[in-house]
Amino acid sequence: MLDVGRHPNIELLAYSEVENVQGQAGDFKVTVRKKARYVEENKCTGCGACSEKCPTTVPDAFNEGLGTRTAVYAYFAQGIPSTRTIDPDHCRQLNGKKCGICAKICQADAINYDQKDIIMELNVGAIILAAGYDVFDPSLIPEYRYREIPNVVTAIEFERLLSASGPTGGHVDRPSDLAVKADIEPLEKNIKTSSRVLEKFEKKYNQTSQEFYTSYTSGQYVGDDDLKKWADKYQDHLGIVQTLEALKEKTKTFEPAKRLAFIQCVGSRDFRFYPFCSGYCCMHSIKEAIIANEHEPETTSTIFGMDIRAVGKGFEEYKVRGGNTSGITYVRGRVAEITEGPEHNPVVIYEDTRERKVNSRDFDLVILATACAPSKGMVELSKILGIALDDYGFVKTSALSPVDTTVSGIFVCGCAESPMDVPESVAQASSAAERAAEIIFQSNLEEEKAIA
Ligand SMILES: Cc1cc2nc3c(=O)[nH]c(=O)nc-3n(C[C@H](O)[C@H](O)[C@H](O)COP(=O)(O)OP(=O)(O)OC[C@H]3O[C@@H](n4cnc5c(N)ncnc54)[C@H](O)[C@@H]3O)c2cc1C
Ligand code: SF4
Ligand code: SF4
Repeated sequence: MLDVGRHPNIELLAYSEVENVQGQAGDFKVTVRKKARYVEENKCTGCGACSEKCPTTVPDAFNEGLGTRTAVYAYFAQGIPSTRTIDPDHCRQLNGKKCGICAKICQADAINYDQKDIIMELNVGAIILAAGYDVFDPSLIPEYRYREIPNVVTAIEFERLLSASGPTGGHVDRPSDLAVKADIEPLEKNIKTSSRVLEKFEKKYNQTSQEFYTSYTSGQYVGDDDLKKWADKYQDHLGIVQTLEALKEKTKTFEPAKRLAFIQCVGSRDFRFYPFCSGYCCMHSIKEAIIANEHEPETTSTIFGMDIRAVGKGFEEYKVRGGNTSGITYVRGRVAEITEGPEHNPVVIYEDTRERKVNSRDFDLVILATACAPSKGMVELSKILGIALDDYGFVKTSALSPVDTTVSGIFVCGCAESPMDVPESVAQASSAAERAAEIIFQSNLEEEKAIA
């Protein structure tokens, strides 16, 4: 990624969208909208001072909503270019309210609330589509109760929990526990606000709220509206303090998830959704179980799958090593249902096809290995490019030319074409680059011939 950012022959147009494509192989005119960041990339040093001071917080999409970010943010830490972006949907200033804190704090004078989108026209010889995939939405499988049971998460959510730069600093905290912790901060803010109001009363009447409240409840001061307000405020304050203390007490019992269940083929190899194998999910579940065990050696994982597809050099050995040294048990069978037990523990109901028995077991956390689904924007993008999609919504290619789309000069690589892992995507990207180079070489040759 860094190399791409530095390469003299590569111009990176991040935070940009293709709006129109005209022309043919060797001579395409591409219209690109470079969206306003409201932060000038050439001035921003990436110091992050603006993000630290911004008062607006929203769920962080990069962390799958498991944490928050501010309205001026970097989508993820290693992004190129290393700059910040103001989210126009949530920034106070851009929505007509008073703020401007980030502009005041930025030493590089990089904030520009008046920045506009730029429309660019590019002339290119070939196009490579590498728009990737989307994670299948497991709430379409009602029996797995994703979003109903808090401790049922997708593999991508689990990877954010496992990440040292993620919302929990790499601790596998359970979403049900995180929800309790998230309630603490607003309560603490409420207590600060109500304490300030109570202090004003205490100064005015020269006694503590507690002393006053004891006299008030014994029947003194009846009919005084101002004192009634004080009593009501103090009562509310006591209620919030009590709730906060109860929540803090509860958090003392919280422990990271140590009994993990991975459920394979969620949306894949399923005739209701995608009948084919997504290729990478067996291996990422094993990888995640191994990493979880490295973080916390007491962690055990049960991987439920019809079979484990460890296809690739060294993959089978990795699978066996996971079983021998990382606390992984492989259960052959498809999970029928997940229910919720005590303490928000998900209960997995499954048939062990080796034992020919229907069992149920409870876990701390269930991780769904979701299918590789076509990218949501692919239909729109395919119309702009004039290329055909296959029956599932991936880019249509032929078995003999797996990087050629239905339009000459437009190529595809990676999961935009079909599910595949990173090494396969990289190999396909090289192949697409080679096909694009052929087109450009040919059109240069024709141009030279025409001049001669
Ligand atoms: C939980 C999980 C764990 C995984 N772990 C591994 C692993 O350990 N090893 C491994 O080999 N594989 C792993 N994979 C698979 C891996 O994610 C894919 O193989 C890989 O990301 C495919 O690369 P890609 O470039 O085709 O697509 P992507 O990585 O999806 O990249 C596509 C990019 O295009 C951008 N984009 C989309 N639409 C547009 C548009 N219209 N305009 C501009 N940009 C656009 C997207 O924002 C994205 O940045 C994992 C997958 C999952 C779900
Ligand atoms: S102007 Fe917008 S982005 Fe800047 S600090 Fe205020 S809310 Fe945050
Ligand atoms: S890779 Fe494994 S989990 Fe993913 S679809 Fe194929 S068999 Fe199922």
